[in-house]
Amino acid sequence: MKRSGVGLTAEHATGALRVDGARLWRSLMELAQIGATPKGGVCRLALTDLDRRGRDLVMGWLRDSGASIEIDGAGNIFATRGGRDDAAAAVLTGSHIDTQPSGGKFDGNYGVLAGLEVLRTLNDADVVTMHPVTVAVWTNEEGSRFVPVMGGSGAFAGVYTLEHLRQQRDIDGISFGEALDAIGYAGDAPIGGRKLEAYFEAHIEQGPILEREEKIIGVVTGALGLRWYDCTWTGQDSHAGPTPMEARRDALLGASRMVEAVHALAMRHAPDGRATVGCMQVSPNSRNVVPGRVTMTVDMRHPDDERLAAMDRELRDTADFVARELGLDCDLQQVDHVPASRFDPKCIDAVRTATRALGLAHREMVSGAGHDAIYLARIAPTSMIFVPCKDGISHNEIEDARPEHLEAGANVLLHAILARALGSDSAAGASGIDHG
Ligand SMILES: [Zn+2]
Repeated sequence: MKRSGVGLTAEHATGALRVDGARLWRSLMELAQIGATPKGGVCRLALTDLDRRGRDLVMGWLRDSGASIEIDGAGNIFATRGGRDDAAAAVLTGSHIDTQPSGGKFDGNYGVLAGLEVLRTLNDADVVTMHPVTVAVWTNEEGSRFVPVMGGSGAFAGVYTLEHLRQQRDIDGISFGEALDAIGYAGDAPIGGRKLEAYFEAHIEQGPILEREEKIIGVVTGALGLRWYDCTWTGQDSHAGPTPMEARRDALLGASRMVEAVHALAMRHAPDGRATVGCMQVSPNSRNVVPGRVTMTVDMRHPDDERLAAMDRELRDTADFVARELGLDCDLQQVDHVPASRFDPKCIDAVRTATRALGLAHREMVSGAGHDAIYLARIAPTSMIFVPCKDGISHNEIEDARPEHLEAGANVLLHAILARALGSDSAAGASGIDHG
């Protein structure tokens, strides 16, 4: 729908706008009823009948807001509130409403419903934007029923083909394509190819930093790059009694030194470096045998690709050094590499400016977890807004967040969107926020 006429277009008029936090909370609680678990969480796996019911509810709300709805072949939903120039690139926001099997009420759902709340707020104040504003609901972000994770946004960004997505099967052998068709959400809109002015995603932090530092908003500047390794230590099985200490080739001793070294390596790259050994298999795993073989994994992350490459070199040097010292063979293979994403400086600035103008305690941070925004960042200027969650816990039924924090994050989203959608290049929409 094209909007014309006299709406509130000037920055000074939109600066006083605020979302309705109580309405946002009610929507979150109502959506959380679908797939509600006894412990207060949500189980609404992608492309199940519960997902269909969640989609029906949210799509009804989006339609009631007057937005025009499109669904693409991957089941991604787009709800667009028209601007003065509907040929202009859209300002996009959104997230996902599928959950983990023991998920919470806020992961993903918050980003979608904060987007809905922005549309409702713009409607209430009769704001006319230059650019259309679109709310997206991305399919299968969690990846718990179907791999790959972030499949819908990944297809939108051209990382996966629709054919690839449709072929993936869940644990019962049902394909993504069959499940999508069964819930009636295989749409005919083309996947991707939309003109995008910007993408903003609001999300709970899923970590403890904001709460610990008593900050309300995380201005997210990017996401950690990741390297995964498989590492195999080979020595010699031998008897724990007769084999003298100096004659041993103990693979577990090598692996153990590597665990220590991996931890120390991340600490040298503090505060942003992360390194984890999460799996280890000891062979023969017998009480009275010196272990001849150990396999282990290493997960390393950093927001700066050069620093992550430096961590990679240090890891390889450590492996060589330990292997030489202990007379072991070490086979270290990198098995996955996702480069760091750096969000768009202008979008980050729109979030930062809105946060400051709203007078909210904040800090800049990088996301340690995967989000749809990471794929969107490949094709559009992107940034994210984090709000605290209780004890930093997510992917858990006890996931919790405070209504006033969710409201604050939605206000930041509103003004970041306005900064890009009103049609002035200056982000003045945000700087004009009223403190009243
Ligand atoms: Zn999420």
